[in-house]
Amino acid sequence: MNIEIWQGDITRLAVDAIVNAANSSLLGGGGVDGAIHRAAGPELVAHCRTLGGCPTGEARLTPGFRLPARHVIHTVGPVWRGGNHGEPDLLAACYRNSLALAEAHGLASIAFPAISCGIYGYPLEQAAVIAIGELRRLRQSGSSLEKAVLVAFSRDMAVLYERLLSGESPAS
Ligand code: ADP
Repeated sequence: MNIEIWQGDITRLAVDAIVNAANSSLLGGGGVDGAIHRAAGPELVAHCRTLGGCPTGEARLTPGFRLPARHVIHTVGPVWRGGNHGEPDLLAACYRNSLALAEAHGLASIAFPAISCGIYGYPLEQAAVIAIGELRRLRQSGSSLEKAVLVAFSRDMAVLYERLLSGESPAS
């Protein structure tokens, strides 16, 4: 599995699945969630209504409707509450469960936004370390996925992913 970094709007990517940093209602919100629902069209929220929500750390798959991506994998990241409330395990679970769902559906490519790094307030570097750690773990264990894209919405996030992916130690 290749791990790539791409800077821009995740709703433009024609991959097998884009991941949505959703909230537990799955009924839409701000940030990347709002952008995905706008681009997918009203069919997406109508479909999500049938799912009955999603607990933090879990993931659910829907069609992509009007998106160039074939599917959306909705996962609910943890709200940052200082780091001692299970946030790292829950964030890792978002990546693991999203990847497992993609594999279970025979998908070849998946793109992730920086889950929990916006409104939910997760410190960017700590979140990026977890994201890259989970992707590397899957790559090492062998995956049917061919490509995982880490989508950075800002230049700063792209630089951070590049530094961590190239194996440099974090700046002190
Ligand atoms: P959360 O509630 O999980 O923190 P947000 O949507 O607020 O989710 O932010 C998650 C990340 O997604 C942030 O890094 C934010 O900059 C980024 N983001 C926002 N809009 C987009 C978009 N259209 N494409 C890709 N990433 C986006």
